[in-house]
Amino acid sequence: MRRSTSTAVVTGGAGFVGSWLCQRLLADGHEVWCIDSLVTGRRDNIAHLLPDPCFTFVEADVCEPFDVPGDVDLVLHLASPASPVHYLRMPIETLQVGSTGTTNALDLAERKQARFLMASTSEVYGDPLEHPQRETYWGNVNPVGPRSVYDEAKRFSEALTTAYRDHRGVDTVIARLFNTYGPRMAHQDGRVVPTFVHQALLGEPLTVAGDGSQTRSLCFVEDTVEGLLRLAASGERGPVNIGNDRELTVLEIAEVVKEITGSDSPIEFIDLPTDDPKVRRPDISRAEELLGWRPRTPVRDGLSRTVAWMAAERAEAASA
Ligand code: NAD
Ligand code: UDP
Repeated sequence: MRRSTSTAVVTGGAGFVGSWLCQRLLADGHEVWCIDSLVTGRRDNIAHLLPDPCFTFVEADVCEPFDVPGDVDLVLHLASPASPVHYLRMPIETLQVGSTGTTNALDLAERKQARFLMASTSEVYGDPLEHPQRETYWGNVNPVGPRSVYDEAKRFSEALTTAYRDHRGVDTVIARLFNTYGPRMAHQDGRVVPTFVHQALLGEPLTVAGDGSQTRSLCFVEDTVEGLLRLAASGERGPVNIGNDRELTVLEIAEVVKEITGSDSPIEFIDLPTDDPKVRRPDISRAEELLGWRPRTPVRDGLSRTVAWMAAERAEAASA
């Protein structure tokens, strides 16, 4: 017996953010179809959801046309490599999922007359020259730099989403997510939080890129998911920034992780990646006004929860 009031399709639902989104949608009483190729996601992220009769996992690449039976009310399109380590290793696949994958997800929303949410990114602002970043800023992207495979794929996804809205009448909205962190980030996916926590737990040096003065604004995953669902439930078209407006330098992030883990790992300065954005902080006044949303989780609390989860995962792996 399905208990659902509506049906949502989550592409990339076995990934870090997607799995939290699926979990929350199920808790809110929706039927959920999770479509994921597991290229960077993990079956473990959704193992606890699989017994729920309202949850269906389909292992599939969204670059191939896909369908689900019955009515669909909402398509949340998250499928895409997201960590720089992943998209630099899979440049063509990243461009393909941003173009063909997004086309297929939009086609599904059009066929089903569903609302469509595009999970875009702060990377559409590139290495921004305006601070904080407002949705009206057009960005500073190097179209032939290594990060362009992700940045331009997401910019194309935004343009495609807009074209489907304006020319095909699909009810779309664009969310621009800023750096999100929390439990279920892959330990070795290269992003700053799991990397520092992993290194601190092992007593290894924390690899700070450049002099660590570049900034990021970290949003806890439950807050991001709340923002995405409020945006999906609104009638807005976006784009709307979803992120934390509290900015930290990368060196500060390393120091907080050391403090929370009680680690005496040294800091090791490594080369700054090409085109690494120097400052990133969202202006979230649009999300506050339109959705009554702002992040609630203090960074120390969110990092403590992430550390506890990663430590437990390590202990479990060691005992197995
Ligand atoms: P993730 O790598 O954990 O999740 C991405 C998921 O997409 C994975 O499960 C992966 O297997 C799946 N996927 C990738 N290509 C696919 C394909 N062709 N077909 C089917 N599935 C595919 O990353 P995440 O951090 O959870 O990011 C989720 C989404 O949010 C991405 O679109 C990302 O660009 C966006 N985003 C995330 C952040 C962040 O800080 N986490 C920031 C900005 C934007
Ligand atoms: N970073 C770092 N050490 C690492 C991994 C990342 O100093 O081991 C830096 C990275 O250079 C960037 C910031 O942390 O300045 C955030 O990187 P991440 O890969 O998490 O995401 P980005 O915001 O660059 O997409």
